[in-house]
Amino acid sequence: MRGAKRTGDNIAYYEVGRGRWLRREWKRQCPFKVFLSGRCQGVKGHKGVHWCYSLSGSFEWEDNEADPQHDGAAGSTPPGHKSYVSPVKMQKHYYLSHYTDTAVTDKVILAMLKKNRSPEQDAGIDRPVITAHERKTIGR
Ligand SMILES: [Zn+2]
Repeated sequence: MRGAKRTGDNIAYYEVGRGRWLRREWKRQCPFKVFLSGRCQGVKGHKGVHWCYSLSGSFEWEDNEADPQHDGAAGSTPPGHKSYVSPVKMQKHYYLSHYTDTAVTDKVILAMLKKNRSPEQDAGIDRPVITAHERKTIGR
C-alpha cells in the first residue's frame, strides 16, 4: 500500500502527442473509513456524508463531522431501495473525478519524461491512447 505522505502519488504524467505531455494532479482521497471497512470515495475535506459502495453494491454512508446532517448516524442502502444513491450520481463526487491537467512546458522535465524518468517522486508516467477529454484539454 502506498503511503499518503509520499509526494507524487496523486500525480501522473501523460504523453498526449509526440513530445507533448500533461501533468495530471488528482485531489486527495478522503481518509475516512466507512463502517471501518471501505475507505470513503470522496475528495478529502468534502461536504455531505462519507460514502463508499460495498461489494454487493450497497451505498454505505456515515455522517460527516465536518458537515453533520444525520446526528452521527450511518447506514447501508441496497440497490433498489428508494433512497439508494447510484454510482452514476456519485461519479462527480468521486475523488478520481477531481483532477487538474497542466501542459508540461519545462524543457528539463520534458527531457526526463522522454527517458521515462519521473520528475517527481512516485508520480506515474503513462502513455495511454489519447482520450476525447485530453484532446479537448490540449486543443487538438
Ligand atoms: Zn469522506
